[in-house]
Parts: sequence; C-alpha cells; structure tokens
Amino acid sequence: MHKLFLSVAVAALVAGPSSAAPSAVDAQRILRDTKVLSSDEYEGRAPASEGEKKTVAYLTQQMKAGGLQPAGDPLPGGGRAWTQDVPLARFATKGPVAVSVNVAGQSQTWTQGEQIAIRAAQTGAERITITDAPVVFVGYGVKAPERNWDDFKGVDLKGKVALVLVNDPDFETGSGDFGGKAMTYYGRWTYKFEEAARQGAIGFLVIHETAPASYGWATVKNSNTNEIFDVIRKNPAEAHAPLEGWVQRDVAVALTKAAGLDFEALKKAAQTRDFRPVELKGVTFSTDYAVDVQKVVSKNVVGAVAGAKHPDERVVYTAHWDHLGVGQPDAKGDTIYNGALDNASGTALLLELGRAFAKGPKPERTVMFLAVTAEEKGLLGSEYYADNPLYPLATTVGVLNMDGVGPNGLARDFTTSGNAPLTLQDELIAVGKTHDRYFTPDPRPEAGSFFRSDHFPFAKVGVPAISFGGGQDLVQGGRAAGQQRQAAYITSRYHQPADEFDPTWDPRGFEADGTMLFDLGNKLANSRIWPEWKDGAEFKAERDKTKAQRK
Ligand SMILES: [Zn+2]
Repeated sequence: MHKLFLSVAVAALVAGPSSAAPSAVDAQRILRDTKVLSSDEYEGRAPASEGEKKTVAYLTQQMKAGGLQPAGDPLPGGGRAWTQDVPLARFATKGPVAVSVNVAGQSQTWTQGEQIAIRAAQTGAERITITDAPVVFVGYGVKAPERNWDDFKGVDLKGKVALVLVNDPDFETGSGDFGGKAMTYYGRWTYKFEEAARQGAIGFLVIHETAPASYGWATVKNSNTNEIFDVIRKNPAEAHAPLEGWVQRDVAVALTKAAGLDFEALKKAAQTRDFRPVELKGVTFSTDYAVDVQKVVSKNVVGAVAGAKHPDERVVYTAHWDHLGVGQPDAKGDTIYNGALDNASGTALLLELGRAFAKGPKPERTVMFLAVTAEEKGLLGSEYYADNPLYPLATTVGVLNMDGVGPNGLARDFTTSGNAPLTLQDELIAVGKTHDRYFTPDPRPEAGSFFRSDHFPFAKVGVPAISFGGGQDLVQGGRAAGQQRQAAYITSRYHQPADEFDPTWDPRGFEADGTMLFDLGNKLANSRIWPEWKDGAEFKAERDKTKAQRK
C-alpha cells in the first residue's frame, strides 16, 4: 500500500450510514483472517519466503473451505491449480557504484545515494559500464499521441543519457493538456523509464524535485538503491534502459549551468508543445558497477465462483497478500513487518467476499478472487497477471482492488486511489448512495496514487479498474477524528513492524466496506454492464480495441 495523507476537508453531503440492511459479509471472520495472516508466524509475508508458503497454504485452504473453485494455472491433466506461478527477477548492485561526470574537461565524482540514486539494472546484464555518454535534457520525456505531444521530436537518444523532469508538463502551471495539477500516467517515474527504453536511450535520470514527486529525496534513495524486483521478461532490454536512476535537483541545476543553460528556463520551455531536447554541451556521464541477478518464483492465489449464464465474463476482486517480511528492527527491537492493515486486512476481506458469493445465489457472470504477490516490490503480481492473463482481459468486466480496509469504524464517506475517469467509479458511487455513503475524491490527485496500487496494471492494459479506500468522515468524531487516525497510522505504523493486529478495531467498518464492495460486484455480476473509460482517459484506446468482444 502506498497510502497518502488525505488532508483536504470535503463538505458532508449525506447523513450517516444505515444500519438496517442485512450484510452478506461477516466482520468477525475478516478480523480472524487478518489476525492469522499478520501473526508473527507468517513472518511479514515476503515473496519467496517461508512466510509465503504459509500464506499461500492458508489462502488456498480458506478458499476451498469457503466453496470457491480453483482458478489458477491450467493443470496438465485438465482443471486448474489454486495458484498462478509468478517468476520474478531480483536485481542488486554488487560492490561499489562508480559515477563520474565530466564538465568542460573537469571530472567530478558522485556518490550513490547522495547526488544520484541508480537502480540496479534490470536488463539482465551483470555489469553496466557507460563511458563519457553525452547528456541531453528531454523535458518531461512525454510522448502522448492522443494529446498531440512529443518531447523527443525524433531526436536520436542512442548512446545518450537523458535528464527528465518528474510529473507532467502542466503540473506547475495547473492547467493544460495533462489534467492540470492532477497527475496523468505520463507524470509517473515508471512511465519515464518505460519511455526511455522505447526511445533507445542508454539511460534516463529523473530530476528529483519534492513537490512534483510528492516525496523527498530520502524516499528516492531508500527505494532505489536497494534490491529491485521485476517480472521475468522475454526481452528485458525492451522494457528497461541500462541506466535508470534519479538525481538531486541541485545537481541538475549545476550541470545545466555548466553547459551555459538555465534550469528554470529549460523547464518553462518543457511546458510547451514546441519543446525540443537540448544537449548539455561539454557534459558527459560515466558509471561502472556490477549487478547480482537472481530468479525466484512467487505465487498469486486464485479462486472463483463460476457464472451461471456468462461464465466467460468475469468480475475480479484483487488484494495483495504480500508485505515487507523481516527487516531492520524498530525502537522496540521488533523485526517482523506484520502488515496487518497493509494488506492482511484486504486479503481477509477478499476471502470473505469469496465465501459470500459462494454461498449466495449463483451469479450470472463469474466472480474471481485474485490475491496477488509482490505489490510492495512494485505491483509485480498484478503486473504479471495483466501480462499473462489466465482468462481473456477483453471480457474481464472490471477489477475492484482492496488495500487496507476498515479499521476506523463506520464512515459517512469512501474514496478511491486517484480519480479514475471511469464509469466503474460512477457505479461505486451509485452503490455508495444506497448505503448512505458519499464519495470523497482523492484530495491529492497530483501524487498519482491511481498508478500506485494493484488495480493499475489492469488499467494499463485497458481493463476498467479501481482501488477502494475507506472513508475519513467518521460517524464518531467526523473528519477530524478520521484524519487524526490516518495521520497516526502513517507516522507510527505504516511500513513499520508496528502495523500489527489491533484487538480494539471496531468491526463495523470492515463489515460496512465489505458489504459495499459485495453489492458493487454483485450488481456487475448480474447485469450486462460493461464499465468504460471516459473520453480523454489515457487507457481508453487500449480497451476500445476489443470492444467488439463485449456484447
Ligand atoms: Zn505497503
């Protein structure tokens, strides 16, 4: 989970939630499963660990007992396994990372983690050596044909290192072709690196600036200079340039100055359609380091309730079962990152939704429950499924993701990660109304949270997908209480060993969120609704390619 502060107050529109409707989901079972999965015995559920084995065994056993059918990898003798194998590659730098920049004949040395944060190369190469590569500023590094925008203008980047700005071209001006302050996918650093590979650059270095990145250099350093995981790719060099990394803003300012250019003026130019790449004359970049490459296999767990009328059409619930495993001790000496809220809670709700559909009347469409691995390593279990779908994506109706649900008691509102330009979100809002709950839009769409949860790899291949978030306008204490709880969680528990099961959690919130998600899935599973992307959404064209297959 990549939880962000929800700090903007939104006026309450509707009264509190109703308590009359009978619920298909049982909060006590959700709490029980959350407690089991986040116990020390599960060792923080790291992919490819003993904790994974226990987690996969528990999920499989619960799905079976709950009346689901296995829906994972096809078995050689027919039928399906309960799991989908997810082969992953683990990359780490080995030994020193040497970096130097030559400016007008003078060589300066940079230190990994200080001026620069280089990610261990994911091309499969065991050594990366770049010697005196020219450096080119490429603005926001965006190629968006549907917006008639191309920062590259056909300039050949082969053998060159590009400097690229984070976020998208209208983040600073607040209005333009990229959603204003809100981030489109073109603003996300993952996009920048994908485009680097497509452009054939030897490397892309993202210029870190705190506001458009939405986090400080410490986050960049911590998450880029340790081990990096990726799905195993047939041709990894097509997906990754040899050099992927970040540089501090001051470093970029100094380099452009040394080349006789002004950083702020370059940035202004990059905010326009006419921008062209600018070579930093007299500046070259060199690096040399070794890479350790390992292969591991992790698993997604997959169960389903088959549709009675349209079994080939499926509504998919997702939740990531993995967390951070065992790591650095906290102040109390605890080394197990239990991940109770993140995301034993969502996984437990996934199991409970499975039981609810299995024991209810048969849905017309198939409902599938996909517990994915390696979210914390970069959404890899969901990315692997989206790249290697077990069932056709064209007739996958929609994906409802859950990451951290329920502990704050009853809320008058709910939200989604990022504001999805999708009719699926409208369907969620309509279901919310029947529960007397109103929708609070993501108050910080510029942070790009739409691109930071497991629904996103599905969205990227066109499948309508959203990630549900519980509300903050609490029935007891209102928004002030909700924000206080959220802030306390981020400060003292999020991604720390203290994210543990809490026996004082109010079960009603788990039940309320679960019931809403059940009702939405149930509505989709018993209708002819095909949710769609709205006009202008960057993933609409991909979905529209298969429109004829949806009737
Ligand atoms: Zn997390």
